[in-house]
Amino acid sequence: MKNEMTLSFVAIEENEALARMAMTCFITPLDPTLEEISEFKTIVSEAVTNAIIHGYDCDGVSMVKIHAVIDDHKISMTVQDEGNGIFDVEQAMEPMFTTKPLMERSGMGFTIMESFSDHLSVESSIGNGTIVRFEK
Ligand code: ATP
Ligand code: MG
Repeated sequence: MKNEMTLSFVAIEENEALARMAMTCFITPLDPTLEEISEFKTIVSEAVTNAIIHGYDCDGVSMVKIHAVIDDHKISMTVQDEGNGIFDVEQAMEPMFTTKPLMERSGMGFTIMESFSDHLSVESSIGNGTIVRFEK
């Protein structure tokens, strides 16, 4: 099976649920197990929340963009923002590292995304934004 989609939405926290539901519908034709659905939802949720909160400071104007492709039984997805960017990607991906401890962030987003996906890569530069790529 082949399919492809893009989804864009402004950076408000409410849109995390929109992204999670849309992406779940997108992968449903692959007949995933409940565990696979749950892991995929978590990946989407963590990546989109990061873009909204860290990338755009929930500004309600800037657009988060998701692009996803299904090819055979593989899902490839990017979550992209053109916001703040990450100062040090390697450090950001360490477990428990967060730049927002006062917002009760645990710094586990990247660690969880990495463990639930087959492949994850992050490209980011300060002031230009961040692209997170996954395969599952
Ligand atoms: P949690 O995900 O557990 O709530 P967190 O978001 O701080 O906490 P991670 O998702 O692992 O933890 O992200 C680690 C850090 O990487 C963040 O604190 C932030 O500084 C940076 N970061 C992640 N995504 C982005 C992004 N899209 N734009 C800018 N900075 C980001
Ligand atoms: Mg996070």
